[in-house]
Amino acid sequence: MSLKLVSRFFVIFALFAMFFPFMPAHALEVKDVRFGIHEDKTRIVLDMDQAADFQSFVLSDPYRLVVDLPRFTWSVKNFTANDEAGILAVRQGALKPGVSRIVFDLSRSMSIRSAFVLPAKGQKGDRLVIDIARIGVDEFKQFKGQIHGNLDINNPPNNAGQSYSNKSKSKANAAVKNDYKPLVVIDPGHGGVDPGAVGKEAGLLEKDVVLKLALSLRDALVKSGRYRVKMTRSTDVFISLRGRVKFARDAGADLFVSIHADSIGNKKVRGASVYTLSEKASDKQTAALAARENKADLIAGIDLSVEDQDVVNILVDLARRDTMNQSKFFAGKLATVLPKEGVRTLEHTHRYAGFAVLKAPDIPSVLVEAGFMSNKNEARMLNTETYRNKVVSGLKRGINAYFDQVQKNQRE
Ligand SMILES: [Zn+2]
Repeated sequence: MSLKLVSRFFVIFALFAMFFPFMPAHALEVKDVRFGIHEDKTRIVLDMDQAADFQSFVLSDPYRLVVDLPRFTWSVKNFTANDEAGILAVRQGALKPGVSRIVFDLSRSMSIRSAFVLPAKGQKGDRLVIDIARIGVDEFKQFKGQIHGNLDINNPPNNAGQSYSNKSKSKANAAVKNDYKPLVVIDPGHGGVDPGAVGKEAGLLEKDVVLKLALSLRDALVKSGRYRVKMTRSTDVFISLRGRVKFARDAGADLFVSIHADSIGNKKVRGASVYTLSEKASDKQTAALAARENKADLIAGIDLSVEDQDVVNILVDLARRDTMNQSKFFAGKLATVLPKEGVRTLEHTHRYAGFAVLKAPDIPSVLVEAGFMSNKNEARMLNTETYRNKVVSGLKRGINAYFDQVQKNQRE
């Protein structure tokens, strides 16, 4: 080959590399589809040649399960309908450039319990696991539009393996090895220029009480060896509500716990309570509480015009990503375990309202009111280490119960 020809080849190669910089070594391959029938669920396992991001959701009229993956080749040989599993048929093909879709026809109304990637281990290759379970037709409406997984089909990857996000990868790998330490972000409310509620006990401020609670909780969680912990503040400083949410998202939190001890008009109201985000407050008292908490930035003199966000959009996003159900599940756990540790709780312990600090679309988040500073007895109790330790034990127990369930869902 003459030198001229070699250089021409080189130019062609260079041009090719310039226009197709991320040509995949090979596209994703779906090798097999298997079903596991359990008493309470059907497990669908897609055997793949590499781990990849996905998204999955259910549809009605007729009932279907949809799984989107980066463009794949389908090498499934024998697919047989499985009536017991509730699966009538399967179709697959290109959806749009870079994205392929699998559709399972379901024989009845079913919802996705959990969906996750299990990286190759031993004899087993990379797998996508989707657990579906039978639910009532009315119940189905709750799950409609809820998306599992984080494949962005509007911005699909050029290369499935490359796309499989680092966060997904490290979490999935660690889940298999069972050594992933979830990151809990603890958010002591108020601080600095914003004192929060002023207690019915001389000189007692919410910002100080919640910081003490948060620091003890941090120590208890770290000591357990099961978690990584970050604090939005560990000193007496002011942080905006949006700054707290951003902190948790930037840190890649798995759980966000905001700790407060507020005051309310009715001085008789006492007991710990747990809140999750909702457009409509569960009751007037809770609406007033959320309005008060959301004033933190106003109190600190922050320009609120840039902080305004559309709550409805956020709620839609929360529901789509399943974060809302996880937050509710965690709040329910807390409501159950707090009294077991000797913490007095408000009736209907788990309540809902539009708290600005609970708006991370991808992190299960709750706000805990450890008690009401407006109640004389409770303010006095919150000022003692003995009572604060009970609150901390309850919170830790709830966090353990939450992650027990998360890890159970991820095990095969
Ligand atoms: Zn507060």
